[in-house]
Amino acid sequence: MPLAGPISQGKKFFCPKCGALYSVTRTQAAKKETNIAKCVVCLQVMDETDSTSVSVYKLIHRPLLVPSQMPSGVAWCPTSL
Ligand SMILES: [Zn+2]
Repeated sequence: MPLAGPISQGKKFFCPKCGALYSVTRTQAAKKETNIAKCVVCLQVMDETDSTSVSVYKLIHRPLLVPSQMPSGVAWCPTSL
């Protein structure tokens, strides 16, 4: 059974906030501009560059637990009754 293809292009990058796995590839922009890479899962800024070399983040794998979807201000602890 053939696979869809190895994830060989780009380097792997894990979001420091939620642990989502990305494949990062670099591409050249026409002119120098500010590029902000935000995690599509937790919406945190992962990288910010100001050059003609743009990093493209492609989501490969979502984390099992997404911190931003947890109720804020509520300590999630099912054993504290
Ligand atoms: Zn994230």
